[in-house]
Amino acid sequence: MMRLKCNIGRGPVDPCSTAARGPREGGLTIDGSDLTGRPVHVIGGGLAGSEAAWQLAGRGVPVVLHEMRPGRQTPAHSTGGLAELVCSNSFRSDDAETNAVGLLHEEMRRCGSLVMAAADAARLPAGGALAVDRGRFSDTVTAALADHPLVQLARGEVAGLPPADWDQVIVATGPLTSPALTQAIAALTGAEALAFFDAIAPIVDADSIDPAITWRQSRYDKVGPAGTGSDYINCPFDRDGYDAFVAALTAAECVPFKDWERDTPYFEGCLPIEVMAERGPDTLRFGPMKPVGLTDPRTGRRPFAVVQLRQDNALGTLYNLVGFQTKLRHGEQLRVFRTIPGLERASFARLGGIHRNTFLNAPRLLDQQLRLKAMPRLRFAGQITGCEGYVESAAVGLLAGRFAAAERQGGVLVLAPPPTTALGALLGHITGGADVASYQPMNINFGLFPPPDGRIKGRDRKRAQSARARADLAPWLADQPAPPTPAFAG
Ligand SMILES: Cc1cc2nc3c(=O)[nH]c(=O)nc-3n(C[C@H](O)[C@H](O)[C@H](O)COP(=O)(O)OP(=O)(O)OC[C@H]3O[C@@H](n4cnc5c(N)ncnc54)[C@H](O)[C@@H]3O)c2cc1C
Repeated sequence: MMRLKCNIGRGPVDPCSTAARGPREGGLTIDGSDLTGRPVHVIGGGLAGSEAAWQLAGRGVPVVLHEMRPGRQTPAHSTGGLAELVCSNSFRSDDAETNAVGLLHEEMRRCGSLVMAAADAARLPAGGALAVDRGRFSDTVTAALADHPLVQLARGEVAGLPPADWDQVIVATGPLTSPALTQAIAALTGAEALAFFDAIAPIVDADSIDPAITWRQSRYDKVGPAGTGSDYINCPFDRDGYDAFVAALTAAECVPFKDWERDTPYFEGCLPIEVMAERGPDTLRFGPMKPVGLTDPRTGRRPFAVVQLRQDNALGTLYNLVGFQTKLRHGEQLRVFRTIPGLERASFARLGGIHRNTFLNAPRLLDQQLRLKAMPRLRFAGQITGCEGYVESAAVGLLAGRFAAAERQGGVLVLAPPPTTALGALLGHITGGADVASYQPMNINFGLFPPPDGRIKGRDRKRAQSARARADLAPWLADQPAPPTPAFAG
């Protein structure tokens, strides 16, 4: 077997220099024989890039994996290890029967995921969650890739658009993509299609909104280009309820910004709801909670204030609270937002947040194989596509690696996984299912899956969705080249 040397400790790489080119172009050292095929270049050795490289190499496709650390760190990373976990050490629930991220774990294991195998080997006691020893996890991923004969690890920043002779590239540079590459991507996509902060408003499962209290109506019954005049779900407040809500909002506890997040440009156009509330008792009533153009059918009158919910995905299973981006702590969000009339029993598919986060408007810019429509040789993976979380980022890396491998091996495209699976639901959301206008990072959740047949509720509904996903993944996997199944000592 040929063996590639790890290229550790280089400084920033000019992507147009020979040092940044793949092995065939002559810059990097190969022990033994030459590569038989052109490499796919993966930029970013985080969760997504590491998984993509593994999936490519496992299918016999040479990879050059570019990672700028340790020579250049992001504000959140601190090591040179691949797949460094920058915050929590948890991959969240490992319950594949009733939890969407647990189901995603299982699907990734079935696809021969390196990230999941390394997580299983580094597992720590954590009840129903999959928590890992972060050092061991990162070391396992790093060693598996550094030792792989088809993977070349190139240390250095890719500080601009990849050169034209990198004919297949996966960009997996994450929420803290280096500024030079960010600028190059923005020049390609248009700056408005690339966000630098997320401003996440909470999202609720449509079937947990109380229809006895809320009603459907667009402001002034406007139909608009794609509406019906009743596109929004409205939650009405009377004066006392509104005053109590504003008081609760201003008293609730927030998550502080990190030092490197402090110069937040979002303050110009996207104020957190609690910051607006602090500006005065009527600010919300004349802002996102204004009741004009709306009539509560139960009273025949305009309410004192209104929270509007707008459809968030093509399936119509999720609704976001319009204008409710927030830095409140998650527990506080649940407590305060469940006082909104009609949301007393709301189930939240996503809670709000505001963080530094570089991500594309993927549903607008990417095709169903995660390629940039404007430059298909560039594929995107991980959090830069607008998925959220370690597991989701690795899952999108897994798909990008498989798609790129299939394209390299004869131009055959692998079909996307069925939308009823966790992998398919996540991919579908990123590449078209999400609303382009309100696109914000999203964890996997059952609201992204098509509803199950019949009117099943609660945990039985989740069980039915999981059982359907498990059955539907099998034929898709059977059509794929056999996945590599990594095993590491636990
Ligand atoms: C502060 C912070 C805390 C978070 N906490 C959590 C959490 O607790 N749980 C959770 O599930 N998710 C968390 N996330 C989200 C998490 O980062 C991502 O979900 C996950 O790490 C993203 O994986 P990724 O592969 O897309 O990016 P990353 O894991 O960030 O990997 C991207 C890699 O690309 C490299 N890179 C960047 N630019 C270049 C370049 N130009 N050239 C070469 N290399 C480059 C970086 O050094 C990095 O190694 C957090 C994010 C941040 C920013």
